[in-house]
Amino acid sequence: MSQETRKFEAEVAQVLHLVTHSLYSHKEIFLRELISNASDACDKLRFEAIAHPGLVTEDAELRIQVTWDPDARTISVRDNGIGMTREDVVANIGTIASSGTRRYLEALSGEQKADSRLIGQFGVGFYSAFVVADKVTVITRHAGQPTEAGVRWESDGKGEYTLEEANITERGTTVVLHLKDGEDEFLKGWQLRQLVTKYSDHVAFPIRMPEDKDGKPDPTEWVTVNSASALWARPKSEITDEEYINFYKALGHDFNDPLAWAHNRVEGSQSFTTLLYVPEQPPFDMMMGGGREERKGLKLYIKRVFIMDAAEELLPNYLRFVRGVVDADDLPLNVSREILQQNRQLEKIKAACVKRVLDLLDKVSRDEPAKFATFLAGFGNTLKEGIVEDAANRERIAKLLRFASTKGEGAEKNVSLDDYIGRMAVGQDAIWYVTADSYAAAAGSPQIEALKAKGIEVLLMSDRIDEWMLGYLTEYEGKRLRNVAKGDFPLDEADKAKQEAANTAAAPLLERAKGLLGDKVGDVRVSARLTDSPSCLALSDFDLAPHLARLLREAGQ
Ligand code: ADP
Ligand code: MG
Repeated sequence: MSQETRKFEAEVAQVLHLVTHSLYSHKEIFLRELISNASDACDKLRFEAIAHPGLVTEDAELRIQVTWDPDARTISVRDNGIGMTREDVVANIGTIASSGTRRYLEALSGEQKADSRLIGQFGVGFYSAFVVADKVTVITRHAGQPTEAGVRWESDGKGEYTLEEANITERGTTVVLHLKDGEDEFLKGWQLRQLVTKYSDHVAFPIRMPEDKDGKPDPTEWVTVNSASALWARPKSEITDEEYINFYKALGHDFNDPLAWAHNRVEGSQSFTTLLYVPEQPPFDMMMGGGREERKGLKLYIKRVFIMDAAEELLPNYLRFVRGVVDADDLPLNVSREILQQNRQLEKIKAACVKRVLDLLDKVSRDEPAKFATFLAGFGNTLKEGIVEDAANRERIAKLLRFASTKGEGAEKNVSLDDYIGRMAVGQDAIWYVTADSYAAAAGSPQIEALKAKGIEVLLMSDRIDEWMLGYLTEYEGKRLRNVAKGDFPLDEADKAKQEAANTAAAPLLERAKGLLGDKVGDVRVSARLTDSPSCLALSDFDLAPHLARLLREAGQ
């Protein structure tokens, strides 16, 4: 059997047409797809070799090679993985065998108008080569087959392909792209190399490229351009702290060591790995009030192939400081952002990520309080947003917060709600707090005098976000959180008798005060709040706290 020409299945022609037209704005992903196939081929051979070690005795180091030829205007991606037989080639790249592509077609049937958006959701894989190439040649030999069992496949992606036998000395597959006019940017070594490291840095096999000598590849000198180790895919026990720290730094965005990290693998109906880091200090943009616009640093991989920065899809906003990697086994490669946002599998992964981070913070708070204090100094207020944003984890987040208190050490924020509850007086049923513009104003507030006198602890809140947060944090461990400035005050029996006597005695004074103040106040009452100060302003349960009212006024509300 020598050369033969065949037609693609009708479906393939359709896919080819759509892929080449709609992937045009993301054409560089062809390289990621081809490297991902090469890596899969190496994975398959590695697996086969478990049962048949003879398959890899020759050319034992599994690897991927990427090179370019500026004269021939080609790029090639080669692997020494499993390779393909003639039947494989026909089945795999002449038909819609790939499940990803089939799903793509199924989703397309009916309405094709959304093709450019839809295409990103599926692994279009091999065919993406035709986005940049007007001819693609595949030269392949299956592992364990004789040299003459090689196959040469070629197509211009327009409906037909040719197949012929070939003598191939090396096991595996080479894909050669003959670039279209105008795609010369990919013929530069540095450009290619950048794409390789951007998308495939953590492919677990070495990706080698020849040295660039004046724009031409030097075939005598190959360098490994990826880090070739999916750190997160290795067992925890084999990874040193130093490796974890270096990986964190390689993720970018921070020159400092991380504060802590958590590395977990979930096996089951849905398997995934998470490696999550908490930084020590906020990055510059977050301190500048930014960080909401562009959130980077949490990368989504699917089977070790980089898919995208997906911090927003994988973590809620209040955990935007977290960095790391999520590697999912079961998501379709080339999944789009739109799809991620409504993907149910991803919802589960997201919930798991939140749990991991909160577990990690909880652990640091217990084991390393000093470290935790550093963390809270930088991210405490960000974390408070979670009280509002994440109702399901409200208690867990509240547990992590620390406040200044009348029983704490000055302005230092080191009292937890658990500390507070542990010191509550017998019969005390509420967690009392006061909010103010500053620590000094909170600590000196006349409203807390009576509670202080009775030995009841009051949390002193003075961060801008506190009032907003406390609107949502109304209860903790079954105890109400109460603002000392609001509503009725707790009185014991003796207090009540005193209060009544005082009310009668002061009646004429109260009348005069009401007359003088007029509608500036709602009421004038004898207060149980005060011990030293003669008077204070109090709020009904439904009033805004004074400094919040002031903030709103400042903001023009
Ligand atoms: P997918 O990778 O999602 O299966 P692709 O279109 O990328 O879809 O590839 C189609 C099929 O072609 C693969 O499943 C594989 O069987 C075969 N294939 C592609 N590239 C290679 C390669 N380098 N080595 C071996 N087989 C390959
Ligand atoms: Mg593929």
